[in-house]
Amino acid sequence: MCLPYSIEKLHTYIRDLDTSNQKLASVQEALRHSEKLAGMGQLSAGIAHELNNPLGVITMYSNILKEELPQDNPMVRDLDLIVEQAERCRKIVGGLLNFARKNQLNVDETDALKLAEHSLNSVIVPDHVTIHMSSSLNNPNVMLDFDQMTQVLTNLLKNAIEAMPEGGEINLLISDNPDKVIFRVKDNGSGIEKENMDKLFTPFFTTKGIGKGTGLGLPIIYGIVKMHKGDIQVESNSNPEKGPTGTTFTITLPRNRMV
Ligand code: ADP
Ligand code: MG
Repeated sequence: MCLPYSIEKLHTYIRDLDTSNQKLASVQEALRHSEKLAGMGQLSAGIAHELNNPLGVITMYSNILKEELPQDNPMVRDLDLIVEQAERCRKIVGGLLNFARKNQLNVDETDALKLAEHSLNSVIVPDHVTIHMSSSLNNPNVMLDFDQMTQVLTNLLKNAIEAMPEGGEINLLISDNPDKVIFRVKDNGSGIEKENMDKLFTPFFTTKGIGKGTGLGLPIIYGIVKMHKGDIQVESNSNPEKGPTGTTFTITLPRNRMV
């Protein structure tokens, strides 16, 4: 194996990664200023496709280089970092593509309780978190896109789990009236700070550490709920002096959005 050649390659890929990161940062900046979610979908799809290929090349060659090097070579750690960061970019790009795809619905008559159960089963619940589900539905039938609404509920449940690193309880409540079906995800986690309440649905807003949050969960949820002609509300308390902390997201969907 020729090491100087590997080092040169490594530098090229570090530069490529840097360029990709810069592109991504400028896209994020552009998206932040974009007012319309629809326009954003198109922009993000275009950029995400552009970024996917170079990111794939970076990951692949970094892995090849890593295999070529003896395990005790200090460059192995640098390569691990490159792979990790490229993976992070790919996650963001994946989120963008997902975001862009979410502009049409596949609506069917669905059982709201089955949707809630399916969403619950799609989430990995850590030992320190308990989830209770309860329903007071009079009529479980509702017209909705099952897959996309599953994504809405699982994302809300994931956020709730992530807000309770020391453990806690989540309540998933389903209720209805003749015209509407209501899903409520209630947690007793950290709560959301007041100054963050109006940023929640802004793409890329996240308070989670680097590599942990993409800040695309709630904007995607918002888009899906709005396409169903539904509504999303948040109540939260992050100040223990004002009472128990926690957050409740309430999603209200028309039983038949055509009406
Ligand atoms: P991400 O989860 O990737 O950070 P989201 O769009 O899902 O992105 O959420 C944006 C931010 O909203 C989170 O980083 C967090 O600060 C806040 N948030 C969302 N749900 C909750 C919750 N249940 N409890 C506390 N904070 C929350
Ligand atoms: Mg999230």
